[in-house]
Amino acid sequence: MSQYQYHPETLAVRIRSERTDNMEHSSPLYLTSSFTYPNAERMRATFADETDDYIYSRFSNPNVEEVVNKVAMLEGAPAGYATASGMSAIWASFMALLSAGDHLLACRAIFGSTHTLITKYLPKYGIQYDYFDIDKPEQVEALMKPNTKMIFVETPSNPGLDIIDLEWLGKLARSRNIILNVDNCFATPILQRPYLLGAHLVTTSATKWMDGQGRVLGGVVVGDEKLIKDIYAFCRSTGPALSPFNAWVLSRSLETLSIRMARHTESALKLATALEGNKHLEWVKYPLLPSHPQYEIAKKQMSGGGGLVGFELKGGIERGRRFLDNLELLSLTANLGDSRSIASHPSSTTHAKLTEAERLQAGITPGFIRISVGLEYAGDIQHDIMQALERSV
Ligand SMILES: *Cc1c(COP(=O)(O)O)cnc(C)c1O
Repeated sequence: MSQYQYHPETLAVRIRSERTDNMEHSSPLYLTSSFTYPNAERMRATFADETDDYIYSRFSNPNVEEVVNKVAMLEGAPAGYATASGMSAIWASFMALLSAGDHLLACRAIFGSTHTLITKYLPKYGIQYDYFDIDKPEQVEALMKPNTKMIFVETPSNPGLDIIDLEWLGKLARSRNIILNVDNCFATPILQRPYLLGAHLVTTSATKWMDGQGRVLGGVVVGDEKLIKDIYAFCRSTGPALSPFNAWVLSRSLETLSIRMARHTESALKLATALEGNKHLEWVKYPLLPSHPQYEIAKKQMSGGGGLVGFELKGGIERGRRFLDNLELLSLTANLGDSRSIASHPSSTTHAKLTEAERLQAGITPGFIRISVGLEYAGDIQHDIMQALERSV
């Protein structure tokens, strides 16, 4: 065999579970909860960790392993574990590695359920936390404590699309012996590879761009071998395993992730560019628009801006609601990262229970709209948004 190294995009297509005697071309679905042994000795050896044979699908399964291998390869990380959802990946990374008395430092603008885990559940286990503003990175060092064990960030952040310098943060975390855990859901490893920039762990909701067609839930955590070993041990006993069926679907999706992200990104940049300066908008936010406050960082660490575009409507909450009502093509749904374009208005939906002051603190202004740009013809997505802007006045 030659020493030639295939590109990750090739491996995302080609990595697969071992071919069976049937010589199938596409990986079969291993819908089985457990695995068998030819004799007592082989079973003993497997349980003694002397073989790599499968035992039980809560621990490992060929379909799930295929997903883990693909995502770890795409992220450039040595190890990983796949879970039933993005939230279980994040929860496992917290619970396996944090103990009572530890301190977690997280950015304030994060996915809603992650915020709930941090503020409602971690304190129950004696784990303290502080939030910093992602657009004020100087707060990170100021808020570090002797017991800070982990830093958790989303970049681009949800829903505000703010960006933090991962290389800088990785160096800072490593100099203090702190684990840097990055939620890479918005960018995917096609556009940004936090592990290679200095993170110890990368968590991703595979439900979003990785599945990309709004079908299955899944989560993946990849990173340093020793940390993943602890996360694996936690998951093996607590059971948030990814279902083989969902893994089989996700592995097919990963074959097309790079071409889908290229199209999402191209259409999103076109949309953001077309919207900038529109008379109905206060501002437009997209990582690779020069007007983005952290444009220079985005250019440095992302190879594309991704499929999400944010903008602020003139006219606040009520205008936001009217804008949604006037859309004809885009879907109104909580998901993102779908082949179908989606519009969401956090102030009147996901973040409606917060006070206006709390929303502003999380970077959510009253007329903020987030568009998840799908795979439809870019001109049609733009047309629908433009006509809804005109009609929502
Ligand atoms: C959706 C999402 C999650 C949670 O993932 P699920 O698969 O829904 O559990 C976490 N982080 C971000 C940024 C997300 O968008």
